[in-house]
Amino acid sequence: MRIHRLSADVYNKIAAGEVVDRPYSVVKELVENAIDAGATEIAVETEGGGKKRIRVTDNGCGIPKEELPLAFAPHATSKLQTAEDLFSIRTLGFRGEAVASVAAVSKTEIVSRTAEGEAYALRTEGGALGEVLPAAGAKGTVVTVDELFFNVPARLKFLKSDAQEDADIAGVMGRFLLSHPAISFTYTANGKVKYRSFGDGLAAALAAVYGAETLKDCIEIDAEKHGIRLHGFLGSRNFYKANRTYQSLFVNGRCVVNQTVGAAITNAYASYLMKRQYPFYVLFLDVPPEIVDVNVHPNKADVRFADNQIIYGCVYSIVSAVLDGNARALDYLVHPPKSDLSEETTQVKPAPAPVFAPAAAKQETMSYEAAKKEAAFDVTLPRGSEPRFYEPEPVRMEVHAPAAEDVFAENQRLLREQAARVQAQRVEPDTLVYKGELFRTYLIYEAGTSAYLIDQHAAHERILYDKLRAKWEAREAVSQPMLSPFLITVNGQEFAFLEKNFPLFRELGFEVEAFGDDAVKVSAVPAELVGMDLKAFFADVLSSMESLRAIRLADILKDKLATSACKAAVKGGELLSEQEARALIRAAGGDLTLKCPHGRPAVVEVKKSELEKLFKRIV
Ligand code: ADP
Ligand code: MG
Repeated sequence: MRIHRLSADVYNKIAAGEVVDRPYSVVKELVENAIDAGATEIAVETEGGGKKRIRVTDNGCGIPKEELPLAFAPHATSKLQTAEDLFSIRTLGFRGEAVASVAAVSKTEIVSRTAEGEAYALRTEGGALGEVLPAAGAKGTVVTVDELFFNVPARLKFLKSDAQEDADIAGVMGRFLLSHPAISFTYTANGKVKYRSFGDGLAAALAAVYGAETLKDCIEIDAEKHGIRLHGFLGSRNFYKANRTYQSLFVNGRCVVNQTVGAAITNAYASYLMKRQYPFYVLFLDVPPEIVDVNVHPNKADVRFADNQIIYGCVYSIVSAVLDGNARALDYLVHPPKSDLSEETTQVKPAPAPVFAPAAAKQETMSYEAAKKEAAFDVTLPRGSEPRFYEPEPVRMEVHAPAAEDVFAENQRLLREQAARVQAQRVEPDTLVYKGELFRTYLIYEAGTSAYLIDQHAAHERILYDKLRAKWEAREAVSQPMLSPFLITVNGQEFAFLEKNFPLFRELGFEVEAFGDDAVKVSAVPAELVGMDLKAFFADVLSSMESLRAIRLADILKDKLATSACKAAVKGGELLSEQEARALIRAAGGDLTLKCPHGRPAVVEVKKSELEKLFKRIV
C-alpha cells in the first residue's frame, strides 16, 4: 500500500475514539459545552444507558445560524484564538474536537437559538452534514445524540451493560452538580429523574448527590494559602468510604484525579483511617491559571502543576490542620473575584468577610511567587480547638509566617511523627494485664503507667466488621444455615427495597428470599454473625432505607449492611470471660486506636498521672 492521507471520515472516526469512548464521555463533553455557553439551566436525558439517546438541553448563548456547520467541523472552536491562549484557559472545552467526534460516530442533531436570532436545526449522520433548517426552540441549545457508535460496531461491542453505563453517567453528572453549584441541573435516565439541583449552592448540591445525611459528617472548609485557595467539604475524621469514588477534586473548576493532591489529602487522613478506608471529600482547588497545565490528555482528567511541592504542602497543611482540630479563625483571606474571571470562576460565591483578619495579617500571606522562591511552609499550627462540623460558617485557617525549611522535608517530618504517634499507641497484647470489668461493658487492662478501658461492644463490633469486610472483599463469605428460618413482614416499599438488594445480601453471606409479597425469609447468615439479632438488623437497615435509596449507591448499602450486621451480632451487657476478653484484644492486634465502625473509640487510655491528679497526689 502506498502512503496516503486518511480521508476525513476515517480520521474523524479514529479521533472520535480518543475523545468519546463511552456514553458518559459524550455526556461530559456536551454538558461542558453547555456550561461554557453560560447556561444556568441544563437538562440531561438518556435512554438505554445513553447508547440509544443522549440529549442535553441548555439555556446558554446558542450558536448563530451561520456557525452551526462549523460546530461540527474538527478543530473548530470559539474558545481559543492563538496558541498563547492555551496558557490561560478558563473554559472547559478548547480543542474543538468534541462535537465533530460525537457527530462522526452517531446520528446527531443540534437545535440552537441565540438571543437575537431564530432557532435553526442541523442534523448529521456519521458525520455527513445535512442542511441548516429553520426549527422551533427557546434560546439556548439542544443537542441530541442518537445511536452512538451505530457505524463503529467494534466500539459498540466494548460498551457495558445499560445499568453500568447509567451508573457511569450518574458519576459524571454528580460531579457536574458539585462543580457547578450555581447551575440548576436535571438528570433523567429512561424517564426517571436521578438528580436535580436548583443552583443554590454547594451544600445543596452535595445533598442532591449524596443525600442530606452526608452533610452531617462533613466539615466545610475555605482556606487560602500563598495565593492557592482550597474550599469545599471534607469528611470528618470518622467518616470514611470503602472506595475512592467519593472523592471529588476540582482544580479551577475542572474535575480531575491528581496524584499530588490525592496523596496530600490521603496522608493528612492517614492517622485517622485504617487500611481500605477512604476519606470522603468534595474539594475545590483554585490556583493561578498560569501555574497549572490542563492540556495533559484529551479527556482532560488530570492536570500538571508547575510545582508539585507547593501544591502538596498547601493541601496537606490545610487538610491536616482542619482534621487535627488546629484550624483557627485568625487569618483568612479570600480575594474578591476579579472582573476578568470567567463564568466558572465567578460562579463560586465570594467567601464571607473574614471575622478576625487583622489588616496586618495580609502582609504575612505570601504570594504564590514568593512561596515558590522560598518553598517553605509552617504546618505546625497550635493545638486546641476541635474541627467544626458542618454549619454555614466556614472553618478558617491560620496562616503563619513561613519557616525557612524545605516543604518536602517538612512533610516528611510530619508523616514520620504521625507514624510514630500511631506506633506509640499500639501495645503488645501480651503486656496487657486484665484487671476486670466495669458495668458489664468495659474491660480494664493495665500496661506500664496506663490503664486501658475497652468498650467490649465497640471493639468486638469493629473486629467483626473488619473480618466481614475482608471476607466479603475476597468473595469468601460463608453462610451458616439457621435451624429455623427467620421471617420478617414488611410493607410494599420496604419489600421492594429489600428485594432489589437481595443480590447484595447474598454476597455478604445471607440467604434471603421473598415470602409472598410482604415478607422476607432469611434461612442463613454469614458464619461470623451466627446468633445475631435479625430483628434489630432489619429494623436498622429499613430505618435508613430512605437515605440509602436516595443515594442509590451499592457501596454505601454494603457498608450499612456490614455495620448493622455487626451491631446486631454483639450483645450488650453480656459478661465476657477473661479468656474471651483476652481473645478480643489479641484480635485487635493490640491496636489501641481502634474505633467501632461508627467511629466511636473502642479504647480509652487513662494515665496513672491522670488518676493521681484526681486524687490530688500531684497537681
Ligand atoms: P470546544 O468546546 O472545545 O470549543 P466542541 O467541539 O465541543 O469544541 O464545540 C465546538 C464549538 O461549538 C464550541 O467552541 C462552541 O462555539 C459551539 N458549541 C458547542 N456546543 C454549544 C452549546 N451547547 N452552546 C453554544 N455553543 C456551543
Ligand atoms: Mg467542548
